[in-house]
Order: sequence, then structure tokens, then C-alpha cells
Amino acid sequence: MSASPTIGVLALQGDVREHERSLEAVGATALRVRRIEQLSLIDALVIPGGESTTMSKLAVMDGFMAPLRQARLDGMPMYGSCAGMIMLADRVLDARPDQETIGGLDITVRRNAFGRQVDSFETDIDMAWLGGPPMHAVFIRAPWVEATGAEVEVLGVIDSGDRAGTIVAVRQGLLLATSFHPELTGDHRIHSNFVEIVKGNR
Ligand code: GLN
Repeated sequence: MSASPTIGVLALQGDVREHERSLEAVGATALRVRRIEQLSLIDALVIPGGESTTMSKLAVMDGFMAPLRQARLDGMPMYGSCAGMIMLADRVLDARPDQETIGGLDITVRRNAFGRQVDSFETDIDMAWLGGPPMHAVFIRAPWVEATGAEVEVLGVIDSGDRAGTIVAVRQGLLLATSFHPELTGDHRIHSNFVEIVKGNR
């Protein structure tokens, strides 16, 4: 297999292009995944930010949900930002009643958790594990992680203000998720870390 992994970006809905750019910037080959058969062409999958209720509905309608769950069970690394985090969560609060997820991350997330007043905000998150300075994080009607299972590693927490202590980045095995959107800021350290996870898995 080549040194550069092929990483799909689930293109049902959301900020697909931004993730493709970030992946290419860290040396991966990005593949826009629109058809189920394309899952066999990729080493890993990114689930973009967007609207998880719409993404879920489209995934069910297009017959994607079962193959995505199977790919995850078969050990495909997956990274989800924002709506993508919701798609990877085992439990979702304030979900639509019929909202389904791929699951796999033993976390409880709350949709739109930060409330209306701060629909969108930016803050710096200390991510010493990534090396380098704190990461500038953009939150857009973001979920937060309200509970984590024993196997979940907490990678990022808001460290000041009203929301201090809120978990916004997690990993469990080959699954990585952030409440925020590193694909929008030009800081590619999360994507780079994901590529390392993918390489380590091959
Ligand atoms: N609020 C959206 C949802 O529930 C997520 C927002 C985002 O991805 N920027 O899916």
C-alpha cells in the first residue's frame, strides 16, 4: 500500500470540500464518497460538519447507514467534526426522534448544546498532546460531550469561561471526534493526527 492513505469524506451533506483540503494539506489522498461502493476504496473516513439530522436522514434513505456501521465494525478509522461527532456518538440528546447514528464512540453528546446566545463562538483549546500552541477552535451550533465511557480518551476541554470543563474532543480506538471545525481554520494538526492513526492501522 502506498505511503499516502486514501481518506474518504462522506459527501451526503456538510463541509466536504474543507475536509478534502485539510486532508490533502497533510499528504493524504481525499476521496469524496457519494456511493456505497466507494467505501471499499478508502482506508478511513471523515464525516464532515453540517447538519446531523439531515445527514442521518440521507444516510438512511440512500442505504448508507448499514454499510457505514459495518465499515466501522470492520475497523475503518473514522473522524467526525461537529455533526460528524454526532454521527459517531452512541447516544445523542436533543436529537430528532428518528435520528440514527453510525455510533461506535461510547459518548453521550448534546446537539446545539451551547445555546442560542452563543450559536457560534471561537476559543483556544489546549491540546498539548498534539504539540505546539493551543488550537484555535471554531464552534458552530456545536454539540458537546456530556458523558464518556471508560474507553474514551478526552483530548480537548474548554479551559476557561462559563463552559470551562466541557469536553470537545475525544478518541476511542480508531474513532476521533471534535465538537469544533479544524477544517475551517487552516490548523491541520487534527487531520495530521488522524492520518497517523490511519497509517498505524494499516
Ligand atoms: N447543529 C448541527 C447538528 O446538530 C451541527 C452543526 C455543525 O456541524 N456545525 O448536526
